[in-house]
Amino acid sequence: MSDIEFTGVSKTYPDGTTAVHDLSLRIESGSFTVFVGPSGCGKTTSMRMINRMISPSVGTITVGGQDISRVDPVKLRLGIGYVIQSAGLLPHRTVIDNVATVPVLRGQSRRAARQAALEVMDRVGLDRGLAQRYPAQLSGGQQQRVGVARALADDPPILLMDEPFSAVDPVVRTELQNEMLRLQAELHKTIVFVTHDIDEAIKLGDHIAVFGPGGHLQQHDVPRTVLAQ
Ligand code: ADP
Ligand code: ADP
Repeated sequence: MSDIEFTGVSKTYPDGTTAVHDLSLRIESGSFTVFVGPSGCGKTTSMRMINRMISPSVGTITVGGQDISRVDPVKLRLGIGYVIQSAGLLPHRTVIDNVATVPVLRGQSRRAARQAALEVMDRVGLDRGLAQRYPAQLSGGQQQRVGVARALADDPPILLMDEPFSAVDPVVRTELQNEMLRLQAELHKTIVFVTHDIDEAIKLGDHIAVFGPGGHLQQHDVPRTVLAQ
């Protein structure tokens, strides 16, 4: 049960900017939903409200039927993997220890967590030979794979991805997109993916939420229908 539902959610920042306006949206468990639209229309803000990095000004968000404002944010985030554009890796930890971060925090032994980390690395197409490197010794595409591996290490039901592939070159981006499609066919996570690239949205999403100026949701449908409009 990891469906996500926004009901009448708005977000106005303290400086008066309304980033999200009256958003009602249901994201089915197991769907790959892409938030798409130009810069500044509230995609990231909407995503960050799902893991309580940002609180709504009004409205309710539920995950698995539970109002998240009543769930401890630390607990909530254990069930939600998060991947960002810059990968956000810990620079002074090796690849394998970056991937093992959350399982170790949850009390797994370092040895067990490292073993599991190697398996997750296989899954995202990362050569085990990279395990002892530091993030700065990796290419951008490899760093993003480590970011995805780390987000998946604890097997969370939900994965949030904020423009995860927009900083890598087009060839690597295509590779990473294909990897995501393969992974999702295997894992059936509930994925919310933010991009401003409509082609990427159509390629990856089984559902697309189109955001527009003023943080208004304009459409939410399957790609075929979104394209037709
Ligand atoms: P997107 O992800 O679609 O680019 P964002 O959610 O990042 O959009 O931003 C939506 C709007 O809210 C933009 O006008 C942005 O400048 C503004 N915004 C984002 N974060 C903040 C913040 N912390 N304080 C004030 N305004 C913000
Ligand atoms: P991202 O890489 O997710 O697009 P940004 O560079 O847009 O991140 O934003 C970085 C940080 O600055 C975020 O914490 C965001 O909330 C904040 N931010 C974005 N736009 C504004 C704004 N107009 N005013 C204040 N803070 C902002």
